Amino acid sequence: MAQAVRIDGKAFADGLRARIGVAAAAFLQQTARRPGLAVVLVGDDAASQVYVGAKAKACEEAGIASFEHRLPATTSSAELLTLVERLNRDPEVDGILVQLPLPQGLDEQAVIAAIDPDKDVDGFHVINAGRLAVGQTGFVPCTPLGCLMLLKDHLGDLSGQEAVVIGRSNIVGKPMAQLLTDANATVTIAHSRTKNLPEVVRRADIVVAAVGRPEMVRGDWIKPGATVIDVGINRLPPTDDKPKGRLVGDVAFGEAAEVAGAITPVPGGVGPMTIAVLLRNTLVAAHAHAGLPAPEGL
Ligand code: NAD
Repeated sequence: MAQAVRIDGKAFADGLRARIGVAAAAFLQQTARRPGLAVVLVGDDAASQVYVGAKAKACEEAGIASFEHRLPATTSSAELLTLVERLNRDPEVDGILVQLPLPQGLDEQAVIAAIDPDKDVDGFHVINAGRLAVGQTGFVPCTPLGCLMLLKDHLGDLSGQEAVVIGRSNIVGKPMAQLLTDANATVTIAHSRTKNLPEVVRRADIVVAAVGRPEMVRGDWIKPGATVIDVGINRLPPTDDKPKGRLVGDVAFGEAAEVAGAITPVPGGVGPMTIAVLLRNTLVAAHAHAGLPAPEGL
């Protein structure tokens, strides 16, 4: 069997970021301000520091103003909510992202609920989850929207395709299943209690794995020719030649690539899409706040 096509998420994300840069420059011309994203980081979680730094850099490169708020782990709920309310009112801020996880003692749901849904560029607010559920325009979580973009780019029309989404989290699995349903795929959501998971996955023309278990999906679970989107990011224990530990997805890439028609690698597949879609959502928010029509081709 021929090797699967590698879906190059990094190249797609680079192209999207370039188009966002052009649209952000046009927005600046029209409104005399840049679209703005406020990123709030509470505490000193190492991975979160890296993500927040990467988001700020990506904003600057795309011509989006980035407002970073780094708060100590001792920040109280009241202080954090006061900051979110200030950002809700700030006309320079189009998007608000509170980096998760929050330190213990802070209520993530309460903080997300405090964000103005029209600035909720992460798409985590229940209003945006509801909008997605009933098919209204709103903000969709960045990772699943990025997966949908890759799928449409590779497959075109998804009508009638059998899709299996493994994982039912609020930030990946559930919105992914809704996006695929809206795109007219026939969708199954599999999860930790699903019986005969390999058999269920074998039905799928499209597999989206969002589990968080290294290389769980094996090659013989994949229907020949299927398109496989691997959302998982898992670091294996360090070895002599990889002292930091190798990064792998939820799919056993080598095996699956022998059977699939196309597959996203880890790294370089879904990962780069998440930040690119965050920039896209911020740009869309800025247009809505300025009373301009949504930018096209994004
Ligand atoms: P989560 O822990 O919230 O959800 C995992 C889901 O997997 C659950 O719904 C659970 O039912 C299901 N599950 C667990 N064990 C299972 C099993 N044995 N069989 C079938 N299903 C099982 O995780 P999440 O936030 O949705 O993230 C999933 C993965 O995606 C993680 O590896 C995470 O690092 C990665 N992720 C990547 C990006 C990105 O930018 N690429 C963004 C978000 C998450």
